[in-house]
Amino acid sequence: MPWETVNGTMILKALNPHQQEEALQLAAGILKKGKIVAFPTETVYGLGADALNPEAVSQIYDIKMRPADNPLIVHVTGLDQLAELVLEIPSEASILAGYFWPGPLTIVLPKKELVPDITTAGLSSVAVRVPSHPLALKLIGAAGLPVAAPSANLSGRPSPTTAEHVLEDLAGRIEAVLDGGPSSVGVESTVISLVSKLPALLRPGGVTLEMLENVLGKKILDLTNSGKEIRGIPPAPGMKYRHYAPKAPLYLVEGDEAFQRQQLVSLSEGLIMQGRKVGMLVCEESKELFSAQVVKVMGSRREPQVAAERLFSALREMDKLEVDAIVAEGFDEKGMGRAVINRLRKAAVQVIKQEP
Ligand code: AMP
Ligand code: MG
Repeated sequence: MPWETVNGTMILKALNPHQQEEALQLAAGILKKGKIVAFPTETVYGLGADALNPEAVSQIYDIKMRPADNPLIVHVTGLDQLAELVLEIPSEASILAGYFWPGPLTIVLPKKELVPDITTAGLSSVAVRVPSHPLALKLIGAAGLPVAAPSANLSGRPSPTTAEHVLEDLAGRIEAVLDGGPSSVGVESTVISLVSKLPALLRPGGVTLEMLENVLGKKILDLTNSGKEIRGIPPAPGMKYRHYAPKAPLYLVEGDEAFQRQQLVSLSEGLIMQGRKVGMLVCEESKELFSAQVVKVMGSRREPQVAAERLFSALREMDKLEVDAIVAEGFDEKGMGRAVINRLRKAAVQVIKQEP
């Protein structure tokens, strides 16, 4: 069957059950021959390559224009495949895997020699996860390989949560994208390191810190950065980069509800008075307050998982609507709110914060 293409990139539509098997076989074939294919996961779309093939992995860095010191997450189908990649599986890893795999949790463990340096950006550890998206699992299974996959966007741009987002950034740069519809979680996986004595949170994501602490029955060291610039060696590679950036400058307001509302109004009205086209990302509860040209509702303040699902897509829409500035409302730094505020801080050029 001829597949639709954009600039030569095939769109392998896998939602339709009649086309799914052929789409999966084609995508798996691309991975097996050492090439790159984008595929859906429950968090965001991934840009996949054979994790054990250094030439394949190096193409990921080229295609994304990703800095070479930012390691990749290796996607596997289960604990058997994990065991092939890491020196040992400590009990805490088995416990977390038992609760959260398949799902949006990445576990960092000391790697075996077999995992090439380029996959881990030279680190002696490797980050691994089992995605829960059925197409991701089927693809990895069909290829019979561990699949290294960062988000399928150009480095620094908002992560893609649909095949269309992938094509916006990468059409003509990859052979194919497996289209499985929108990603349900919408932000990347949580990254936890079990390399040293204390478990450490390296990135907040689809599994909350509170859930992890509950399951392990202990405190987890929170090494996620709260928007301050990191100089020198960051605790987790990749933390030092500005990320998720829409084209227009994004201003983030963080504080209690009253502070946020007052600042959001004065900031946006000030920008509008300067003749700028302003886009706003706000909670359901405050959407009536603004006269900005574009107002995107991120869902209720009490349901940050909805904001997570909508965030990257909303940032890309702001680009399409060609706003001159984006003003975003903060979320409480707990539960899924932690992942949302982390991404907003990394997208922001400036954070307007209430003095404590
Ligand atoms: P991305 O593929 O863009 O979702 O980013 C993957 C992120 O996982 C990196 O930016 C790191 O923060 C983290 N990561 C991957 N491998 C390791 C590792 N070996 N040690 C610590 N963090 C890692
Ligand atoms: Mg990424």
